Amino acid sequence: MGAPPNDDTERHESATPVEADLTCYGRQALGGETHDAADNKRTRVNGNHTQWAKGAPRSVPGLLAGLCGLAVLLSGATCQRSPSQPARPFTLVMLPDTQHYSRKYPELFLAQTQWIKENRRRENIVFVTHVGDIVNNHGDDTNQWEVADKAMSMLDSVVPWGVAIGNHDFDSVSRRPGEVATFLRHFGPQRFRGRSWFGGSSTNGLNSYQLFSGGGIDFLILHLELDVPDAAIDWASDVLRAHPRRAVIVTTHSYLNGVTGIRGYNTRVSKHGNAAEDVWHKLIRRHPQIFLVLCGHHQRTVAYHQVSINDAGAPVIEMLADYQKEHNGGDAWLRLLRFVPAERTIQVRTFSPALNSYRTDPKNQFDIPFEIPAGCRPPEPACLSPRR
Ligand SMILES: [Zn+2]
Repeated sequence: MGAPPNDDTERHESATPVEADLTCYGRQALGGETHDAADNKRTRVNGNHTQWAKGAPRSVPGLLAGLCGLAVLLSGATCQRSPSQPARPFTLVMLPDTQHYSRKYPELFLAQTQWIKENRRRENIVFVTHVGDIVNNHGDDTNQWEVADKAMSMLDSVVPWGVAIGNHDFDSVSRRPGEVATFLRHFGPQRFRGRSWFGGSSTNGLNSYQLFSGGGIDFLILHLELDVPDAAIDWASDVLRAHPRRAVIVTTHSYLNGVTGIRGYNTRVSKHGNAAEDVWHKLIRRHPQIFLVLCGHHQRTVAYHQVSINDAGAPVIEMLADYQKEHNGGDAWLRLLRFVPAERTIQVRTFSPALNSYRTDPKNQFDIPFEIPAGCRPPEPACLSPRR
């Protein structure tokens, strides 16, 4: 465990790997801390707005680039990629419940993260999210935590990543709020401190957010604690208000339940939080930045997704994957969410590095349209047009 010091390799190769097709750009931010997509600089924004201009790109003649930068600086023009240069696809990896790998099949957990490490460039992987139930036997089996730690450490200095605490990750089955010492020791916020992409955490250390970019889009991902208690909802709402121009993904362990398509009130696994239906009403639907929710936990369902409509009338994709009940605790199946911005599509694929195989049934392999929320989209190409 422990957080290796941040390094330049990680910042430049993982957090923002896809901006080579940008010509130049400016941006406006309303407040909070922003993470510059092209330069990967984190900038504290205190005023009404702050703009950035990136220098001349390789593919654009110097004069045009200079004019573009000047226009951005002087007039606040937004200036991004030319229409002939579609954004490069990028991949978000979703790791479903790994509890049985930590318990009995460590080689499968290691196979997952080793594959991510080896294929980060080829797949243009920009983030890895673990949906929780990292281990099976709570806090009493240190060996399982060591397996999990070793596997996830494979991603350090390779790609930004985050974890959501699952019900099996509490110190005991009672899942009382204070019984999280082992989880925090291995995957608490101190592990990520100093990472350029780590945004911060709630006071109890069980909720965190991370920043990354792909296809010219700036994202924020929330990892929310089990059953998302009201305090976590308040914390998440504050984070979203401080980052109004980020497209937001939520990962939380238990959310969707069953093939009925109902989030329902029966998803709660502790006494201390909200059922998924309450999480939807109190948080997800109210924040139009959120366009994707990921979860695991329900082994009988295995794989399911649906689209709900938020208060802004925009679609929110909700997706569950959990293969723990299958052969070898899941045979190392993981989810690849390949974003194709030019087609506004996420190509969802389910792949096992251990089997070197894809699951191709419709629940595990499908393309789904996605919309970057209004206000979070990259500006249209308008290199020399001042903002009105
Ligand atoms: Zn679970």
